[in-house]
Amino acid sequence: MARKVIIVGSGPSGLTAAIYAARAKLEPLVFAGEAGGRGGTPPGGQLMITTDVENYPGFPQGIMGPQLMVNFREQAERFGADVRDEDVSEIDFDASPFRVTVGGETHEAQALIISTGARPRLLGLEKEDTLMGHGLSTCATCDGAFFQNREMMVIGGGDSAVEEALFLTRFASKVILVHRRDELRASKIMADRLLAHEKVEVVWNHNLVDMLANDAGKIRAAVIEHAETSERTEREVAAIFYAIGHIPNTQLFEGKLDMDENRYLVTKPGSTRTNIEGVFAAGDVADHVYRQAITASGTGCMAAIDCERWLESVGS
Ligand code: NAP
Repeated sequence: MARKVIIVGSGPSGLTAAIYAARAKLEPLVFAGEAGGRGGTPPGGQLMITTDVENYPGFPQGIMGPQLMVNFREQAERFGADVRDEDVSEIDFDASPFRVTVGGETHEAQALIISTGARPRLLGLEKEDTLMGHGLSTCATCDGAFFQNREMMVIGGGDSAVEEALFLTRFASKVILVHRRDELRASKIMADRLLAHEKVEVVWNHNLVDMLANDAGKIRAAVIEHAETSERTEREVAAIFYAIGHIPNTQLFEGKLDMDENRYLVTKPGSTRTNIEGVFAAGDVADHVYRQAITASGTGCMAAIDCERWLESVGS
């Protein structure tokens, strides 16, 4: 029998949608993804690969990212959400009810909430896995404050890199921005602000090629290489922030759900409705602007409410 709603994705948006949908007696089935699956992050999403979270309201002492996601999940399950660590391989949006394929099995649902998130683009360096959360980060807003009065490095030349670098000047003794070209991609107003900042040094035409750790396993230096001469330089830094863009997890929806030029899902203004009736999108998969756990949770809540009202309107 068809479910009322299937939720795809289990970060803050998906699990918040699950809490609300379960409490509304929609008996949601949540496909949380699997480690090493399409989302590029474990079930629970990007917070599973961070350490302390200090900006999620309600935790005055902060909370570890993975613990926060365990809490979200427990809360959703307490109200009856059926959360499974499985990866969706295909969705038939033309069928009614919708058909969701997972490991050879097909599940049906009248409504779908898409909350598959986005993943930060990485450089693919060998030590990324071990240093992530130990000086390497993809979120200055989340982790910048841990490195008070230390030197930090930002990789990238777009608006995100510039914004992150400027944000980090609040804490850092110095911010070194490393960009692979000799010109920033960021908007001129942002670029000018960066270049004028006394705490910022921009290193042009360089790529990060290695990261060195101290005995405690935390970053102590970055090795950067000149893009043309290949000359290598070691810079002592306590933290390295990647800001080389994000990749929304929208491969499953190509040609079906409306996307913007960066492949993020497009929702109708002021709602979580997509171009397909009964399909709602929440969290980072539809947001390249805010990208915070709390905003993802907020839109997850909206999606569950939009979904509940839509089901009611079609008499389900
Ligand atoms: P982006 O504009 O795609 O910039 C990515 C940057 O990372 C580029 O400078 C790129 O270098 C560099 N990069 C990509 N792959 C790299 C690699 N393998 N090695 C080294 N460098 C690499 O991404 P974004 O900065 O995240 O911005 C995404 C969108 O959000 C943009 O439309 C942006 O304007 C918008 N945004 C706006 C604001 C704001 O207005 N306040 C803030 C953040 C983001 P190249 O320049 O050489 O390609």
